[in-house]
Amino acid sequence: MTAMARVEAQLYEPMERGRVRCNLCAHHCSIPVGGLGACHVRENAGGKLYTLVYGYVISEAVDPVEKKPLFHFYPGSTAYSIATPGCNFRCRWCQNHSISQLPRESGRLAGYAAEPEDIVAGARSRHSRSIAYTYTEPTVFFEYAAAIARLAHAAGIANIFVTNGYMTTDALAALHPYLDAATVDLKAFRETTYHRYVGARLQPVLDAMKEMKRLGVWLEVTTLIIPGLNDDPAELRDAAAFVAHELGPDTPWHLSRFFPMYQMNDYPPTPAATLNRARDIGLAEGLRYVYIGNVADEANTSCPGCGRLLIRRRGYSIAANRVRAGKCPDCGAAIAGVWGDV
Ligand code: SF4
Repeated sequence: MTAMARVEAQLYEPMERGRVRCNLCAHHCSIPVGGLGACHVRENAGGKLYTLVYGYVISEAVDPVEKKPLFHFYPGSTAYSIATPGCNFRCRWCQNHSISQLPRESGRLAGYAAEPEDIVAGARSRHSRSIAYTYTEPTVFFEYAAAIARLAHAAGIANIFVTNGYMTTDALAALHPYLDAATVDLKAFRETTYHRYVGARLQPVLDAMKEMKRLGVWLEVTTLIIPGLNDDPAELRDAAAFVAHELGPDTPWHLSRFFPMYQMNDYPPTPAATLNRARDIGLAEGLRYVYIGNVADEANTSCPGCGRLLIRRRGYSIAANRVRAGKCPDCGAAIAGVWGDV
């Protein structure tokens, strides 16, 4: 496969008059000949759907896995992180809008060619425990991510999706043998907010998270708490209840602090009191691991059995980790997560 070649997409079906329906994400775009999907990186050419970003990397870095954020997945390891341009969402607060919205806003792509083998070789040379498909939305570079993920597993490297969770069950069925972990952005718990600020729907995200759990993908959930947009206690309670009861009380929930950004520069940063209240709501709903992120304070892990400190973090670094073989060394309680080899 030649990098940057136009590659025929997977997960689409022909329709009348040369149209195609893309079944990769829950938009299920119906695309006429010559048209693009809502992500602007999948094109119908002559009745066939093509991905425009296969082998087209716009961002590449070695990150602590804690930065994804994943706190219960090989803590202290690094994730070789890559992105191609494009996204199927239009979040007004996107911190990576210059690359995620580039195809939509400028009508062009940018990046450099990298074969799947190059990415895996990069991860190996940097001793990364995993490859993270991140920064933009990995669902829209599904074919490229899947090709890398297959090679990564053969090399003993795990795969992580940092995702908005809008992929279909078909996409998850194809990907999950190679997908070890995901952190899903649950952006709000109201359909109206998804519709107005994101250009998508909430329900498919909830369905995808439940499907990931069912398939055995290690899952952590992240919610950026934005003042006046998704910080209503009743909404947070609904979100926490969903995570606790539908995904399980061992599912970590990350509550991130918002800073003014992109098209939402007129919103204030999240007050500490709002974050603390959200954490209390999560704990009251029965969640065992609720973390506040994007703040200077430590986000530590305590044993849900005896309450003793297990993992102390300083920023994205691990200062101490007392989890042994997935258990608390003091009381023997099992600590949910992935701690061993792939
Ligand atoms: S990935 Fe989603 S947004 Fe892109 S073409 Fe397919 S259905 Fe549409």
